[in-house]
Amino acid sequence: MPMRWLAEYAWLPAHAAPTPDVLIETDGGRITAVAPLTAGRPAAGVEVLGDAVRLPGLTLPGLANAHSHAFHRALRGRTHGGRGDFWTWREVMYEVAGRLDPDSYLALARAAYAEMAQAGVTCVGEFHYLHHGPDGTRYDDPNAMSAALVEAAAHAGIRLTLLDTCYLTASVDGDPLAGPQRRFGDGDALRWADRVGGFTPDNDHARIGAAIHSVRAVPAGQLATVAGWAHRRGAPLHVHLSEQPAENDACRAVHGVTPTRLLADRGVLGRHTTAVHATHPTGADVALLGESRTGVCLCPTTERDLADGIGPTRRMVEAGSPLSLGSDSHAVVDLFEEARAVELDERLRTRRRGHFRADELLTAATRAGHAALGWGDAGELAVGMRADLVTVRLDSARTAGVPPVGVFFAATAADVDHVVVDGRVVVRDGRHLTVDVPVELRDAIEAVTS
Ligand SMILES: [Zn+2]
Repeated sequence: MPMRWLAEYAWLPAHAAPTPDVLIETDGGRITAVAPLTAGRPAAGVEVLGDAVRLPGLTLPGLANAHSHAFHRALRGRTHGGRGDFWTWREVMYEVAGRLDPDSYLALARAAYAEMAQAGVTCVGEFHYLHHGPDGTRYDDPNAMSAALVEAAAHAGIRLTLLDTCYLTASVDGDPLAGPQRRFGDGDALRWADRVGGFTPDNDHARIGAAIHSVRAVPAGQLATVAGWAHRRGAPLHVHLSEQPAENDACRAVHGVTPTRLLADRGVLGRHTTAVHATHPTGADVALLGESRTGVCLCPTTERDLADGIGPTRRMVEAGSPLSLGSDSHAVVDLFEEARAVELDERLRTRRRGHFRADELLTAATRAGHAALGWGDAGELAVGMRADLVTVRLDSARTAGVPPVGVFFAATAADVDHVVVDGRVVVRDGRHLTVDVPVELRDAIEAVTS
């Protein structure tokens, strides 16, 4: 059904700042017209109907959360016992990973994705490696966990790219998976490809991509199998890269090269590939990523939480890598916080201000994130694009008095008031229309932690 929306402000493509009074028409899940009004009057050729829905505040394109592990939402606030070191986090993570089954994962992911919808996320990239039963035995449907995630995103009303993750070994030198890790593994990359190839979502809100967990978890000789699978399909390929210096050290010790060089030599890098974190690349790694147009997905709040460090973000962007954002472990689900952290962390690292313009942060949170997930037709308020509209209040305690261009330095996810995904209203007045987010989160997390 055709709809008309009148945005108090809208951030249009190739604009350094938002535009006031923009009429947006949508039909069949697509944007069919975008027309700034002049002094309250329609531009030539545009008829303003009285039934246009007013969107007070700033309307943005859909936000893309390009890196998620949905089950990590259950860890929030539980990994800081004592002082909470990396091993505290990992222990709790494996404990939760060990308890999930397709039903409890559906409930948890549905609540986590609905929290994302309330935060303005219209598309999520799920880096999914929790494939099998707790002892590594396949479910009767070997893609039962994938199907649970696809269904969860449908309930939450957002799009999903399921980045089915190949996870085979526990160390760079090939230690076998043990304990809770056994459910991550398919044995080898051919069996991974065989399983993934047997899964086709029956709903067009979901697409399948591939992921290499890391150079730790996929032997060098099998990297090309995963990359080839993705390349043949033109599917996105994601990989955790150089999140911590220990990964670089282990890779050099075993293979004599950095993880980035290893991926480059095995045909993993390229414009359909996204390196997640890339916190500790060498200068040569930055050049390899940039020249190949490999994307970089930063997850600043998780990198903070896990004490990973701060990567050379501006240098990677200058080298040619498009920048996207993810909430990863969901210590925080707030793309505004992730976006401003890109600039603010760079300031801390360099002790200088002024690295990223506001519209560059917008692009990272929207169009570049969607592109990294294989949705090249989303993330811009432009004719022909998917009808995703995310409206942020400019009258909250946080945003009152803030000029619209300053939204990425002022707003939080709690200021997202109205969300439309593919032309359908999913969030109104800050509340998800079909999921009671706090209640479902509480129940789903209790079920896997108590
Ligand atoms: Zn991750």
